[in-house]
Amino acid sequence: MRAVVVGAGIGGLVAARALGRAGVEVVVLEAHTYPGGLAGSFLHRGHRLDAGATLLSGFAPEAPLGLVARALGMRFPVEPLPEGFPLMEVLLPRGRVVRPVGREREQEAQRDFFGPRVLPFWRWQAERAERLKALAPRLPWPPEGGELPQLLALLPELLPLLPDLFLKGVHRAPQDPHFLRFLDAQLLIASQTEAARTYALYAAMALDLPHLGPALVPGGVGRVAEALAEGLEVRYKARAERLLLKGGRAIGVEVAYGGRRRGEREVVEADLFVLNIPPEPLLGLSPRVPRDAWGAFAVHGVLPLPVPPPYYRQNALEKPFAFLSLRPEGEKTVFSLSLHTPLSLWEGLSREDYLAQKARWGRLALRLGEALLPGLGEAEFLLFATPLTYRRFAGRAWVGGYPQTHPFRFPRVRLLANVYRVGEGVFPGQSVPAAALSGLRAARLALESLGLGPEEM
Ligand SMILES: Cc1cc2nc3c(=O)[nH]c(=O)nc-3n(C[C@H](O)[C@H](O)[C@H](O)COP(=O)(O)OP(=O)(O)OC[C@H]3O[C@@H](n4cnc5c(N)ncnc54)[C@H](O)[C@@H]3O)c2cc1C
Repeated sequence: MRAVVVGAGIGGLVAARALGRAGVEVVVLEAHTYPGGLAGSFLHRGHRLDAGATLLSGFAPEAPLGLVARALGMRFPVEPLPEGFPLMEVLLPRGRVVRPVGREREQEAQRDFFGPRVLPFWRWQAERAERLKALAPRLPWPPEGGELPQLLALLPELLPLLPDLFLKGVHRAPQDPHFLRFLDAQLLIASQTEAARTYALYAAMALDLPHLGPALVPGGVGRVAEALAEGLEVRYKARAERLLLKGGRAIGVEVAYGGRRRGEREVVEADLFVLNIPPEPLLGLSPRVPRDAWGAFAVHGVLPLPVPPPYYRQNALEKPFAFLSLRPEGEKTVFSLSLHTPLSLWEGLSREDYLAQKARWGRLALRLGEALLPGLGEAEFLLFATPLTYRRFAGRAWVGGYPQTHPFRFPRVRLLANVYRVGEGVFPGQSVPAAALSGLRAARLALESLGLGPEEM
């Protein structure tokens, strides 16, 4: 039994390892020279910079990355953050609110900053997050053919959660403009849309980030993908260009190689295919981009001095909200600063206009970043990434998955009888833990369909 995984992003790598663990021969095809995709780290002037993701959470045993580690029988190279650690700081017109690790600590911080009227919201959030966490590993979602009985069996546990599938996050919150601004800023990075559009259950889970086992990754977030790639056959500089179909099944992937094999083409045949990229380009179709999808603008740099925690800081004083991530590297600090930017702003520009806009957004980002860390602009170097950079890098038109406006917004996991999709565009959405879970789910479905029960996972 042979599987081809297209893309060594988190979703693809988790699926590859899970399949490999069940005895399937797996080949991973990756267009770049290193694994991780939007959760990879690249080398620039001797520093490891994070291409996308910077803040990882979900390593607690019952949280997504904890479950994935257990299923794959591996440990991630991360340093868990202790209770009380000041994980994040959100800058609001009224001041700075810190989000510490641990629910009780967070509730105290929230009460001190916003007043006791926000406590019922946090109690609701904690209760919903706990229920969902308990349910998630057993929830066959999105349900594939034959999974209805499993779904129905979970109905008693699902019923109390149902209203929060249809209400929005904002409906559960006190109508305090400062608190709503805080929610908007925090949900935008997690659900890719503001509180008024995020469905309440997703909001509850997303806001749980500091309490799901956050961790630092020495050497950069890419270390997680590198650990996942260890022992796998990953062919780098291998760009999948076309999926070959026959009788409703895929039979091979046409690959164009770069690097030392530049100019070579090959059809890699397999019994099973896992796509960590949108399928449209592989099927000769135009990519479909949701109208409300966002692009990212990022600034990467290195400061010649250490910076104390919080290592994650968000500027919610004005829009676009800027998110600053800091990583200690000896006596220096590596940083990424990212903003949401409308994709439409970057379409159809001449080279000159594109460069001018890139410089303008760079200045805007640094101004917003300076409010979070004065002196940010005096970095040893500054690298700017625009939505076009991400498009080239990630191989897809938009990054960030579907904005989580309702719970039914994702494509089918099983695309064809032997083709599965994984990654942030697939349930349960954007983020490293979500992409990892999608990889595990696809691998389990594939193994079940092959009669290779995934009991050991
Ligand atoms: C600026 C930014 C900040 C973020 N911050 C965070 C954060 O702090 N925490 C968090 O959890 N998440 C964060 N995310 C989201 C997170 O990075 C992604 O959701 C996740 O990494 C996506 O994983 P994926 O499995 O979808 O794969 P991707 O990362 O999309 O990887 C796909 C892989 O496929 C490869 N590929 C593409 N086309 C081809 C082809 N034709 N042939 C072969 N290979 C191909 C690509 O090179 C890539 O390696 C952030 C994202 C961005 C953009």
